[in-house]
Amino acid sequence: MRGQSCCADHSIMTKEEEIPDWVGAQEFYDKYEPKEILGRGVSSVVRRCVDKRTSQDYAVKIIDITPSDKMTPQEIEEIRDSTVKEIDILKKVYGQENIIQLKDCYESKVFFFLVFDLMRKGELFDYLTEKVTLSEKETRNIMRALLDVVHFLHEQNIVHRDLKPENILLDDEMHIKLTDFGFSVQIESGQKLKEVCGTPVYLAPEIIQCSTDSGHEGYGTPVDIWSAGVIMYTLLAGSPPFWHRKQMLMLRMILAGDYSFSSPEWDDRSDTVKDLISRMLVVDPRQRYTAVDVLNHPFFSQYVVDEVRQLSPYRKFKVICLTVLATMRIYCSFRRVKPVTKEVIKSDPYAVKPIRKLIDACAFKIYGHWVKKGQTQNRAALFENTPKAILLSIATEADEPVHHIW
Ligand code: ADP
Ligand code: MG
Repeated sequence: MRGQSCCADHSIMTKEEEIPDWVGAQEFYDKYEPKEILGRGVSSVVRRCVDKRTSQDYAVKIIDITPSDKMTPQEIEEIRDSTVKEIDILKKVYGQENIIQLKDCYESKVFFFLVFDLMRKGELFDYLTEKVTLSEKETRNIMRALLDVVHFLHEQNIVHRDLKPENILLDDEMHIKLTDFGFSVQIESGQKLKEVCGTPVYLAPEIIQCSTDSGHEGYGTPVDIWSAGVIMYTLLAGSPPFWHRKQMLMLRMILAGDYSFSSPEWDDRSDTVKDLISRMLVVDPRQRYTAVDVLNHPFFSQYVVDEVRQLSPYRKFKVICLTVLATMRIYCSFRRVKPVTKEVIKSDPYAVKPIRKLIDACAFKIYGHWVKKGQTQNRAALFENTPKAILLSIATEADEPVHHIW
């Protein structure tokens, strides 16, 4: 039986059909040449590949379900089923400009090959590691595109369930593309989910509640808004809002909505952006903003240059008043700045913004490869900035990453 190009005929073999071990794989290898590894997941590896006919580069996600001692037959079946669901959702969302496009897919008995457009700039996670924190302007552009995608998904009752910077890729123009629909599910309107899945740092409280309370009513699309709030906070502060080296304590923080804007990175951030984050990170999903609410928040209303030129006299007056107020604020905060003396640098260097930025940038240069390895080695550890905390994190490396399902 042939492995099939799902974008062409939108069909995929069912597991009841007899699939020879190699046919789909052979078709893939006839058309593409796999190259270096771009990323790895729990049961997949993503490689660059080249279309032999056109020499065009793509990315292929290879899902290996070869029977082995590492996986039970039941686990293999689960991966097969979830891959079939992932392909199905990818086909449903095909065409949205900020979602990765599935170009081709092939299936053999022990492999799936999912061919995507190649995102040469890699993950948002790595971009953030390079920059340490992002400006409000850059965060606005990324979050607007992400929320447009979330809105598009939620309109079709699709819950992504694994929004995180590792699953947001960047194309050549630095536009985002959401990927990894491995946990995505389309629900009936009003249907609730109870399955516990996701990545701990980004988990919504109601998902955690489902794991502890069998009578819980379940969760739905609001879980993606929570994760988007965690992402937004992380882009601006450099570290996530909920993090503790002990996972149990971190989950408790999430359940209590226990986060703050107290780290020095927040001093320079606007009240508007803090207000928006605090409406996304609301423990009660019924009170939490929806994607439409988020997109309508003042944080996303920006003057376009042409609009500014055509302002009415009232709007012009308002802009002048705001400019005067902003100038006064800058002047006052400038006057409050204490002189940077040798003593200040010696006693509390982290309190001085340029030095703080330098320390953080150096920490990320040295440990950037390390922040993604697992829960105990989260980027948040680099912001603790005590040598003891960092050493402790390195020492507790033994814990395997709790990447997806826990
Ligand atoms: P998993 O479900 O195993 O997490 P993903 O689909 O998230 O798999 O892919 C794993 C990683 O591979 C991503 O985080 C990213 O680094 C890389 N990757 C995936 N798709 C692409 C792509 N189209 N272009 C470039 N890199 C990719
Ligand atoms: Mg992933």
